Amino acid sequence: MKVRTRIAPSPTGDPHVGTAYVALFNMLFAKANEGTFTLRIEDTDRVRSTIESENEILSSLNWLGIDWEEGPDKSGPYGPYRQSERSSIYQEKVQELLDQGKAFKCFCTPERLAELRKSQVLQKKTPGYDGKCLSLSADEIARLEENNTPFVVRMKKPDKGTCEFEDMLRGTISIDWDQIDMQVLLKADGMPTYHLANVVDDHLMGITHIIRGEEWINSAPKHILLYQYFEWDVPKFCHLPLLRNPDKSKLSKRKNPTSILYYKDKGFLPEALLNYLGRMGWSMPDEREKFNLKDMLDVFDINRISLGGPIFDVDKLEWLNGSWIRDELSVDDLARRLRKIISNEKDLEKLIPLAKPRMRLLTDYEKVTNFLFVEKLDINRDSFNSLGLDEISIMKILQFTIWSLDEIDEWNRDSIFKGLKNIADGLQLKLKKFLAPIFVSIAGTTSSISVMDSISILGQSKSIDRINYALTVMGALSKVQYTQFFKEYSELKS
Ligand code: GLU
Repeated sequence: MKVRTRIAPSPTGDPHVGTAYVALFNMLFAKANEGTFTLRIEDTDRVRSTIESENEILSSLNWLGIDWEEGPDKSGPYGPYRQSERSSIYQEKVQELLDQGKAFKCFCTPERLAELRKSQVLQKKTPGYDGKCLSLSADEIARLEENNTPFVVRMKKPDKGTCEFEDMLRGTISIDWDQIDMQVLLKADGMPTYHLANVVDDHLMGITHIIRGEEWINSAPKHILLYQYFEWDVPKFCHLPLLRNPDKSKLSKRKNPTSILYYKDKGFLPEALLNYLGRMGWSMPDEREKFNLKDMLDVFDINRISLGGPIFDVDKLEWLNGSWIRDELSVDDLARRLRKIISNEKDLEKLIPLAKPRMRLLTDYEKVTNFLFVEKLDINRDSFNSLGLDEISIMKILQFTIWSLDEIDEWNRDSIFKGLKNIADGLQLKLKKFLAPIFVSIAGTTSSISVMDSISILGQSKSIDRINYALTVMGALSKVQYTQFFKEYSELKS
């Protein structure tokens, strides 16, 4: 039998990284087994579903490199692939269950159900429907229907015993039927619930393996019972471990950004995010951290998924992203990606090799190069506070640097370096310490591209202007100090 898998997102919000994670493993499993990966939109919640959300889910998954062979944007032999376009199918299937006595109409009001739930919670019982409408006679039902009393359709279920089923990763799972509710299948507005539509569509679309998040384990008995009621083959189940926040709680947007759009806007590479999602619970046989889709596919084995809750740690992802930027992207490739997001392309190819080592995100490019293009830096005395140097030393370094830069005839990185290294040695300062106040004067911080490169790119007069400005910010030199510095500088040079 040909393997068919699916991702079945509900378009009710931003595209979630969890959806991409489940989609990735569905796609890999299908491809590794020469099967078909499909995408179905589960938009039975007509209030919360939007076409914008659907479009964003599809485009975000595509951006990540996840593609499907059948879906609402592609058509295919099992369409339509949007549940809102399949209503008549669900109506028909519910009628079948009603006719066979496997489901029943429930006329209980929302108020009664709320009361029931409250008292069950108080008695520490599992909340669930108590079966009141199961005992309605045909006459009573007819009368309620004549009066247009709203109703839902619920599925019947065994009162006792256990539902046992196999999970591809977890082995046999047993859940007692008394833990399972008489699930609503059709809502009062005539729309199916997730449970009905999902089972009907998975069957009609020929899905052989249901690979989804572990939050659906407790729904599996209802689904299996529906397959049995319809006398359909039950597909294989595989419940993936949930992504977690670093504190081990379920990944939630209150603690961690969860929208793929966030990661895209922040300057994450799709390759890095996909790589990171591939590491959620799964690993390459050689344990290597960096890999692409093809690498995964070459060795893919779903049994390598481990069930310990995988932690989605944005910091680690950022590290991985930086490593992708530094080591995997050519200057041309990086330039192409940066052009889409930056406003200033000046010297792009020249600056990329300098910026790369300091970038973890694409958006870092402007952060580490912007200073080159501003008129005046936003610095004050405090900017020099944490450099571990007193004011006089800072002023001396800046003044000596001005003189040294001014003397250069052939402006290049080497001549700049030679002059500055000479002064640092003369002042008996470590180069890094000596360069720190120059860095702040030139770039406003000490975390941009290297100060030597910056000075060489800015040019002689602009660099000297910036250091002069820094000196005025520090309070400017008195005449006496100036003379004294000049004497010292001359001695140092001789
Ligand atoms: N529509 C469900 C969701 O949004 C699909 C769950 C499943 O894969 O069965 O997660």
